[in-house]
Amino acid sequence: MAKVLVLNASYEPLNITTWQRAVVLLIKGKAEQIEHNGKMLYPDFPLPTVIRLLHYINLPYKDIPLTRRNILHRDGHTCQYCGYTGEDLTLDHVLPRSRGGEDTWENVVTACVRCNVKKGNRTPQEAGMQLRKPPRRPHSSLYFEVTKYLRGDSNQEWKKYIIGS
Ligand SMILES: [Zn+2]
Repeated sequence: MAKVLVLNASYEPLNITTWQRAVVLLIKGKAEQIEHNGKMLYPDFPLPTVIRLLHYINLPYKDIPLTRRNILHRDGHTCQYCGYTGEDLTLDHVLPRSRGGEDTWENVVTACVRCNVKKGNRTPQEAGMQLRKPPRRPHSSLYFEVTKYLRGDSNQEWKKYIIGS
């Protein structure tokens, strides 16, 4: 289950891989170990949690699919109107679909059931409701992916390489 954060030669996060694949990269000399969590794979070989590639990889920009899961993640699983966090979250079209609102990162936000019902077929202005922040397309697909693994106490060793990306 343990995942390993792979850094580019520039120390920027590149992707997430399995520990098995990370160990292969280390053994082949393609990467160096940057962090481990103290668990030992062999007596002299700690299980890596962050590795860094020795050669720089140039990656093209990857679009993040507009899915319910990704929108909830972008919004921190928080209603964008009242700040509720919990299970009863829905997706709200800021400009309702029936009025030409599109399925875009800029027009779909996380809303609790109560706020969604209250807003109904209106714009936030018409409903007198304030968005906590303007919805935006996530700018870095990698940062977006990596932060999914940072909920709770998991993968603490990754944080210093990710915060501020
Ligand atoms: Zn709400």
